[in-house]
Amino acid sequence: SQLENKTKEKLQKKICQVVLDHFEKQYMVELGDTWTSVRDVLTYPLCWQYAILMNKFSPSAELESTLLEKGCHPAFQGPLPYLPASLKCYIRRTPGRFTAQKHQPGKLKEYYLLNAASLLPVLALEVKDGEDVLDLCAAPGGKSVALLQCAYPGQFHCNEYDELRSRWLKQTIESFIPDPLVNLIKVSKLDGRQIGDLKSESYDKVLVDAPCSNDRSWLFSSDIQQATLRLIQRKELSCLQFQLLRSAIKALRPGGSLVYSTCTLSKAENSDVINLILHSCSNVIPVDISEMAKALSQEFTFLTGTQQHELLVLPEKGRAWGPMYVAKLKKI
Ligand code: SAM
Repeated sequence: SQLENKTKEKLQKKICQVVLDHFEKQYMVELGDTWTSVRDVLTYPLCWQYAILMNKFSPSAELESTLLEKGCHPAFQGPLPYLPASLKCYIRRTPGRFTAQKHQPGKLKEYYLLNAASLLPVLALEVKDGEDVLDLCAAPGGKSVALLQCAYPGQFHCNEYDELRSRWLKQTIESFIPDPLVNLIKVSKLDGRQIGDLKSESYDKVLVDAPCSNDRSWLFSSDIQQATLRLIQRKELSCLQFQLLRSAIKALRPGGSLVYSTCTLSKAENSDVINLILHSCSNVIPVDISEMAKALSQEFTFLTGTQQHELLVLPEKGRAWGPMYVAKLKKI
């Protein structure tokens, strides 16, 4: 299968030593001993896990019973502050690979494979039916698909700046979302930094799943030159993330809220960016998401000592989800 091939490729590929050395230096300081166990998961793809997000628009009872027979269980259970019954995601404690479904024109896919932690920003956003929603950095579209499992937004605007990735996003949406709903989704190719001015005070909810260092894939870069260049570019990412957040705040209606997420452990791209926004924008306040983290602590490991408006999922053996940073803010 495609996914097995990808995993094999990852296993064949070597860890990029320049990147690992860089992580060792930075994350030993930022995370201390916790980094050692996180590193063991990130550098060993055989223990990686995949979650299966069911597509409510193409339900398959047969697939669900097969998953249960194979020892999978729902990723989200129990007293979560917001858990739409229509969001169904299965996980298994043991590492394993699932077959990815190929794109077949005219046929909806039954499931989407993802890192279970990717659903946390979606849950934190708490989208309700009828709300106007913007997914600012949307490709390849995993979170857009997940958002649509949770609710029927009024307006749903998915944006992706990169031309190629934008096509990928369109394909994902078409593979999972049926007519006529698919026609109500607006896909744009704008620089997310401009959307605040172009669509000022237009949305109730904005997801900023920001371009970031992506620690997991960066560690396996095959091109050392490219990986080294990214070390330099990494410093510029927090500036881009800050600008995307500022744009998202402009695009929000007063009373609306946004979720910021990344898949890096880096403090510079996570809490530092959020703290800078909180200090420089007087019209946003932090939103407490600690109840959500508490309710999810059986399946996910979180960094301790974070503030109430943020969480950081740390990959651990048997719960190899993340890294995923999530923060929630509200516009007043
Ligand atoms: N939300 C996606 C998902 O769940 O499938 C993943 C998004 S990925 C972390 C970040 C995306 O932001 C990348 O596809 C990248 O091309 C895009 N991006 C980078 N710069 C951007 C910008 N200025 N405006 C909008 N999108 C941008």
